[in-house]
Amino acid sequence: MKQPFKLSWNAVERLAERYATPILVLSLSQVEYNYKFFQQHLPGVKVFYAMKSNPEPRLIKKLADLGSSFDVASDGEIYALSEMGIPPERMVYANPVKTPRGLAAAQKMGVRQFTYDSESEIDKIAGFIPGATVLLRIRIDNNTSLVDLNKKFGTDPREALALLRRARDRGLDAAGLCFHVGSQNTAAEAYLYALSVSRRIFDAAAREGIKLRILDIGGGFPIPTGDLNIDVIAMVEQIQKQLAKLFPHTEIWTEPGRFISGTTMNLITRVIGTQVRNGKQWYYLDEGLYGTFSGILFDHWEYEMETAKTKKGPEIEAIFAGPSCDSLDIVFRDRKTVPLEVDDLILVPNCGAYSSASATTFNGFAKAEIVVWEEVKEKLQQNMAAVS
Ligand SMILES: *Cc1c(COP(=O)(O)O)cnc(C)c1O
Repeated sequence: MKQPFKLSWNAVERLAERYATPILVLSLSQVEYNYKFFQQHLPGVKVFYAMKSNPEPRLIKKLADLGSSFDVASDGEIYALSEMGIPPERMVYANPVKTPRGLAAAQKMGVRQFTYDSESEIDKIAGFIPGATVLLRIRIDNNTSLVDLNKKFGTDPREALALLRRARDRGLDAAGLCFHVGSQNTAAEAYLYALSVSRRIFDAAAREGIKLRILDIGGGFPIPTGDLNIDVIAMVEQIQKQLAKLFPHTEIWTEPGRFISGTTMNLITRVIGTQVRNGKQWYYLDEGLYGTFSGILFDHWEYEMETAKTKKGPEIEAIFAGPSCDSLDIVFRDRKTVPLEVDDLILVPNCGAYSSASATTFNGFAKAEIVVWEEVKEKLQQNMAAVS
């Protein structure tokens, strides 16, 4: 695995000179590396990028050009991809509980692949798209992920057969199963367990004449954060081995979100105020919880952060707050840092997933602009050449 995309300090300073902060820098070559990781380590597996993790059009376009398919969850996502010219065959509508607007969008744009986990959803899908291809989402209990999605979605594996039968009897194409072990999942075991549960259901279905042909292993693949060093290659190799053993003739899909988008963006933010209150050092930044750092709230994410002055001078503990007038808007508590001043820059790597995607414009602060590193890099180099 190569080191994820991280700007040099020289680049951080030049970008901050050229563009207003806060600014997000997107690396399209990191997007390509992450997409190809799946082709390399899970050969033959079809990738449906979960666009909720980062719907930036330039990132989507890069993936589309590389041949990726997409996991969508709403009418807005279906229309966004359709407008970019991505055909409906490359979409799976993987939200187990779909809105009428979402189903109408699927009908209009020609999306025919869906997931479901209940009887009521079968009737809804059959009403809008007769004969649609459907995957049954099963629940996988797992405590090795950061965000457990199985509390909200997935049917008890014991109910699976009845729901597959029901889909078939309503005229749908009961094509397979799907699961999601939870996001930022750090152990292969959850996948391996899910594969063995899935195999049992495939066999039971076959005995009833329902020939399942697709298994969607969901997302959840982790990215490096802080001190956490995960051997993703070893993890994925274990999954691949088990797939070859249990599902040699099944079409395998995966829906990575975080793994594709997480390492592709760096944030540059700036100290805009300092204050000592009750003996505590406070730093105010031009980006906060309502912006790129929204992942603190929605994704339980702990962001890394670097300053240019790292390693110079003794460290203190400080509180970092965002620019809004809300007292909730605190980004880091008791973070170790060298003393900072107004205008100092801060670099936050690995903030491409569930960050800008859930940012708001609360209190009138615009969302951070996104620039593409491979495009601005050359301009910066030209500038540097002109100066020297
Ligand atoms: C969010 C989501 C994903 C992506 O999960 P990551 O942990 O970001 O890989 C994939 N599939 C479904 C159904 C999801 O809801």
